[in-house]
Amino acid sequence: MSAVSAISDTDRIRAILARVPDPEIPAVSVVDLGIVREIAAGTVTITPTYTGCPATIAIEQSIREALDANGFANVAIETTLSPPWSTDWISDKGREDLRAYGIAPPPKGAATASLKNQTAAECPQCGSSNTEELSRFGSTPCKALWRCKACAEPFDRFKCH
Ligand SMILES: [Zn+2]
Repeated sequence: MSAVSAISDTDRIRAILARVPDPEIPAVSVVDLGIVREIAAGTVTITPTYTGCPATIAIEQSIREALDANGFANVAIETTLSPPWSTDWISDKGREDLRAYGIAPPPKGAATASLKNQTAAECPQCGSSNTEELSRFGSTPCKALWRCKACAEPFDRFKCH
């Protein structure tokens, strides 16, 4: 048996991918968005946030480039659509990153609860929950456009699906 290094390849790959930004929301990494599902021997499994997203191809490209640049050109990328990506997979850090970027993160458990899109989004600017949905479609198919009635600022909200 060869000596086990202090940091496994899995941990190194996770650290590399934690620096790969989501192409649509560069403030959040593909790991914190929950796109990276599994890092196992020689394979990274990803689930795109939204199957209709044009960013899906860009996500895979970004991950491929990061792996290649860090000596993991032999690691394969597999895409799985089942189970479908859920907003519940966004990490706590990812939620904070979204808020800091001006996008209201979905409440935890929203995708599994019957609430789905019913709950009011919290304004990322002032924190008020006195908000309304303006449009089901924001700047991308993954986001809905909301407006805060307290500070009148429009903002994107990550769709729960
Ligand atoms: Zn506000």
